[in-house]
Amino acid sequence: MGKDDPRRLIPRTDRLLAHAEVRSARARLGDDVIRSIVRGIQDRARSGELAPGDVEPEVVAAVASRAATSLRPVLNATGVIVHTNLGRAPLSESARKALLTAAGYVDVEMDLASGTRARRGAGAREALLRACPVAEDALVVNNGAAALLLATTVLAGTGEVVISRGELVEIGAGFRLPELIESTGARLREVGTTNRTHLHDYESALGEQTGCLLKVHPSNFRVTGFTSGVGISQLRSLADGHRVPLVVDLGSGLLAPDPVLPDEPDVASALESGADVVIVSGDKLLGGPQAGLLLGRAEVIARLARHPLARALRADKLALAALEATIAGEAPPVTAALHADPARLRERTEALAEAVGFPLVEHDGRVGGGGAPGVPLPGWAVRLPEDAARLLRTGDPAVLPRVHGGACLLDLRCIPEDEDGRLADAVRSALMRTGEPLGAGGA
Ligand SMILES: *Cc1c(COP(=O)(O)O)cnc(C)c1O
Repeated sequence: MGKDDPRRLIPRTDRLLAHAEVRSARARLGDDVIRSIVRGIQDRARSGELAPGDVEPEVVAAVASRAATSLRPVLNATGVIVHTNLGRAPLSESARKALLTAAGYVDVEMDLASGTRARRGAGAREALLRACPVAEDALVVNNGAAALLLATTVLAGTGEVVISRGELVEIGAGFRLPELIESTGARLREVGTTNRTHLHDYESALGEQTGCLLKVHPSNFRVTGFTSGVGISQLRSLADGHRVPLVVDLGSGLLAPDPVLPDEPDVASALESGADVVIVSGDKLLGGPQAGLLLGRAEVIARLARHPLARALRADKLALAALEATIAGEAPPVTAALHADPARLRERTEALAEAVGFPLVEHDGRVGGGGAPGVPLPGWAVRLPEDAARLLRTGDPAVLPRVHGGACLLDLRCIPEDEDGRLADAVRSALMRTGEPLGAGGA
C-alpha cells in the first residue's frame, strides 16, 4: 500500500470500537458480532466499494440496526392462519407475558410452600385438564412428533402399530409419520387401502404381535369419493377385545368442537369415543407455543411419563408457561383470525384498498398448518401487481403476501387490527420502490 493510497485513511479497528455509539451497543451485542461488523465494513472500504470517510458512519448505523436475534417479525398477509414457515401460531398477549416471566428463575419444578421439588409444569397440566375435563391426565412434550414418538415407543415397543393405509401421512418438509414410527423399532402393520378401510381389516391384523392401534387424522389432505374409514368407537371395542391401547393422533388440536370447522376432530370427542390417549400440537389450532400434548387415561399417561424418553422429549419452561397462558388467558390470535367478523374484515380491507389505491377482491383464507384442508375461510384481499411481493417481503416491516394467479394479494385476516396502519405504510413504500404509480391498479 503506497503512501498516498486512500486505504490508509480507513479508520482503525480500535478507533471504531472506541466510538461512543459502538461502545454503548455492547449492552445489546456480543464482542464478536461487533468486531465482525467492523471488519466487514473495513473490508468493503479496502475493496474500494466504500469511501474511507464513510466507514465510521456505516459502522455506527450497522451496529445500531443490528439485533441479537436474526429472526425478523413478519406481517402475515397470506390469509393462512397457521403458517408453518412463519412459526405457526402467534402467541396471545398473556402467553407473551408468561414467556417473559418464565425467562427468569421460576418455580417450574418447585413447590415454594414446602421448598421441595414438585411435578414439572403442573400449571400447564391443570389448565389442560380444566379445558378438557374428559381427560384424566395430560403430559406436555416438545412437539406433536415427539408425542407420537413417545406413545409408539412406550405402547408398541417392538410390537406392531396397526394403522390404516389411508392414514400414512406426510406432514410437510418430508416429515412422514410412518418413518417416525418405524424409527422407534416398532413395526407398522398397514391395513385396508388408501381410500377404504373396514373394521374387519383391523380385526384380522390384531394378534399376539400387536403393540397398539393407531388412528391418525389426515390433517392436510382429503380423500373424497368412494371412501370409508373406521371410527374411534368401533376401534375401541376391538382394542378392548385384544387388550391393546388405542392411540389417536389428531394433529391440529382443537380441545373442544368449533362450529366454524365442523369436520375438524377435537380432543374431548376423541376421548369420549374411547381413545386411550390423544395427541395434538400446541401451535396449530390451539394457538399456543410449539408443544406436543398427550391427553387421556391416567394409567396410560403415567406409563408415558415414566419412560426415559419422556425426559429427552420434555417441554421447556418457556413452552409450559406460554401453553398455560394460552389456555387460561384471552382467546389467542389463531382463534381470533378463525372467527374474524366478516363485516369488520371487509371494512378494514376497503380502507387498505383505498389507502394504497388498488382494488379489493374476494379471497379465501385457510387454516393452514395441516388443519381443515380444503375448508375456505371467505374474506377479501387487496390485489397488487405480482412484483410488489418481493419488495413487501424485504421491506421494513416485512410483509408476506399471497402470490397467486399473477397477483400479489394482501389478506388482513391474520394481521392484528392495530397493525393496519403500518401495513398500509409498508405497501406504499413497496409500491414506491416498484415505480408503480399509486392507483395504477384501477378496478
Ligand atoms: C402436525 C401433525 C403432527 C406433527 O406435529 P408437530 O407439532 O408439527 O411435531 C403429527 N400428526 C399429525 C396428524 C399432524 O397434523
